Amino acid sequence: MTETSQHEPYELLMMRVLDGEANPAQAQDFAQHVATCAACAAEYRAFGAIKTETDAMRDRIFAGAQVEPPGGGGWPVSLAYSLLGVGTLLVAGWWLWVFWTTPDVPAAVRYGVGAALSGLLLLLARTVWTRTRAPDPYGDIDR
Ligand SMILES: [Zn+2]
Repeated sequence: MTETSQHEPYELLMMRVLDGEANPAQAQDFAQHVATCAACAAEYRAFGAIKTETDAMRDRIFAGAQVEPPGGGGWPVSLAYSLLGVGTLLVAGWWLWVFWTTPDVPAAVRYGVGAALSGLLLLLARTVWTRTRAPDPYGDIDR
């Protein structure tokens, strides 16, 4: 057995031990090897120091992060958003009706506004599609 192949199974096991994923038998096997192998012991200490530092960084990041969105505010806020949405739609619909039925508006402006609104609707539809149908790229991240 070569020098590298003797350590290879323990290098893989080292990551399991560091992540707390090794079962007791694996952890004991690794501890016995590290007790007699200076190279693996040094590597284990080095990776352990890195893990300690990155865990502390993660904890500092999440300590200041607002993971959940702010509270909804109950039914008054929901009612306010609903009224705002209905009012905006009514005003926008009235404005579009007047805009399209007024003969003074040149056709180029009328079609330009129609094209711009169509582009906005396409962007809105794509955003909704992306948010609801596409897989979450951060789904595998442990939060
Ligand atoms: Zn070793």
